[in-house]
Order: sequence, then structure tokens, then C-alpha cells
Amino acid sequence: MKAVVVRAPMAFDVEEVPAPEMPAGGLLLDVKACGLCGSDLRTLRSGHRKVTFPYVIGHEICGVVAETGPGYTGPWQVGDLLSMGPLVYCGRCDFCLEGQFELCENYREIAQAWPGGLAEQMAVPPEAIRLGVIERVPAGVDPGSAAIAEPISSCLNAQERGKVGLGDTVVIIGSGPIGCIHIALARLHGADRVIIADINAERLRLAASFEPDAAIDVSKTDLVSEVRRLTSGKGADVIVTATPAPAAVVQAVEMARKGGRILLFGGLPKDDSKPPVDMNIVHYNALALIGTTTFAPRHYRLAVKLVASNRIPVDKLITHRFPLAEFKQGAMMALEGKVLKAVFQP
Ligand SMILES: [Zn+2]
Ligand SMILES: [Zn+2]
Repeated sequence: MKAVVVRAPMAFDVEEVPAPEMPAGGLLLDVKACGLCGSDLRTLRSGHRKVTFPYVIGHEICGVVAETGPGYTGPWQVGDLLSMGPLVYCGRCDFCLEGQFELCENYREIAQAWPGGLAEQMAVPPEAIRLGVIERVPAGVDPGSAAIAEPISSCLNAQERGKVGLGDTVVIIGSGPIGCIHIALARLHGADRVIIADINAERLRLAASFEPDAAIDVSKTDLVSEVRRLTSGKGADVIVTATPAPAAVVQAVEMARKGGRILLFGGLPKDDSKPPVDMNIVHYNALALIGTTTFAPRHYRLAVKLVASNRIPVDKLITHRFPLAEFKQGAMMALEGKVLKAVFQP
């Protein structure tokens, strides 16, 4: 079969590889679509500590059950179209046992612990059948759209933690696909005003289809004073840092309204993860700094519903669709920042 094999940083292409073996208790998927996300771009560019090359990447997956393995007892049958996220929880740690799967201490991921979905076929291991995130795709939903429930799930977890709600003014720093999903979710949660900011005018332009109430080009405008101006000096109720830029955390603290919530969504570079935040502002303005990462099965389940009912405008998010054979061209475009979200279809 054909699969995207990453051999080293910036050395990747579609190759002919052996088809995956059927795992006992698992199943084989004929992949219909696989999304490419920011973390994949980082892996393509500079590798990943949990990935040993050569490797098949791709963790935003939608496919049809082709065959089930010996001893399989899962609820899905041959012919079912499934949306599948990468997380496989341990089911036994304190957090899993208490229902907080998003905090699982031992989770593993498809495309790290097992080969990923940028391929014609993918094996779903029995661990994922039991404790992964797999949802049946409702009839009529396009596989490309169903593939990208994963990033939506992470954003749902973040906004749940930040209690984004009616009347809030929400500022999102970073207008990539994650920023765009946050715009859509903030609206669904009843936010009064949604403001997007980015340092890159091209990315801001791509995000315009999500119709934010205001877009701030941070390369030209001072973000903190502009948000103050737009909020009559009060500041924003919620700020989401959807960027790896440490400065965003500093700015978020300075532009939050008293009692505001700051959702730290983007991880920072390993060697630059200590931004000089004025903790007295956090203290005296009673701000909540909220870390947020990954998601639980309930978020994935909801994400698939939101995609299926088109309440997240996935068609605006997926700006590019490529046949799997054109992975290299598509990935290069994404690496150059010309793509909001790319989906690849075998
Ligand atoms: Zn992803
Ligand atoms: Zn666990």
C-alpha cells in the first residue's frame, strides 16, 4: 500500500510499504481522509521525541472498517465509517478511574506508539478499540470533515475549562486552524464578542471567513492597547493563547479584565517557556491562568456531533484537499503557512 513515510526531519514522501498486519482483537481501516495538523508540521520539520524514524504519521483519521481481527469484540462492523482520534488512555490511572481521561498519566497515541493514518490502510490496535477515541460518523458526513474532530476536541476541552459563556468578550491570539476553531466555539458558547489577533497578516486573512468581530494585526498594532480600546478600557473576559509565542502569555495577562480567564492552549518552545509575566497583575486582578491540553472521549464525541450538524464550519477550515499521492506538495504548502487546514485522501 501507499503511505507517507517520514525518514528524517524534512525528508518525507509517499512510499510503497507493506500493508499493516491485522492485530488480534483489532481491526483494519481503509483510510478515507487524514488531516495534517500543527504538531505534524513540527514533526516533519524537526522530528518528535516520541517518534523514531522512519515512521508513518497522521493522527486525524477517518476510515471505513475493512476487516475485523480474530477475537475482536468492538461495537463497529465492516463497512462502518469511523472518525478516530489519536489518544489511547490507560484506563487504570487515578485520573482515568475518576473520569478525567484528559489528564491520563499513561496515554499513548496513534502515530506515535502505532503507525498513523496517512496511508491507504491503518491497523487499529485492540487498546484503541477499548480505550481510544473512535466515533461512528453519521450518514452523509464527508470523511474529510469527520477526520478533523481531533483539534476541535482539544478546543472544546479548553473552552470547557475556561467556562466560555454568554456575554463574554473573548480574545484569541493566533489565527491558525486552532484559533479559527476557537472563534467558532466561542460563538456557540454565546460569547458577545470574539476578537482574533495574529502577527501574520496572511494567516489573519485566512481566518477572516470565520467572521471575527475584530481582527488585530499585531505586526502593526499594539495588541494590549487595542484590546483595551475595544473594551472601553476594561479588558477581555477570556483570552486564548493559540500560539507558541511566549509573548502572548505576557500580553494576555495585561489585557485581561479583572477576574478574567486565560486559557494557555499553545505549548511554548522548550527553551523559551518562562515568559516574564507580571504576577502582581494576576494577583490583584484575580486572574485565572488555566493550562489546557488534550481532551477526553466526551469532547471527541461532541466534536463529531458539531461537525456533523455543521455548527463548526469545517468547510471553511479545510482550505485544501489533496490526494494522498500529492502529500509532499500539500505538506510543503502547509509548512510555508499557505494552508489553514489540509486533508489528504487516499
Ligand atoms: Zn492534530
Ligand atoms: Zn489513565
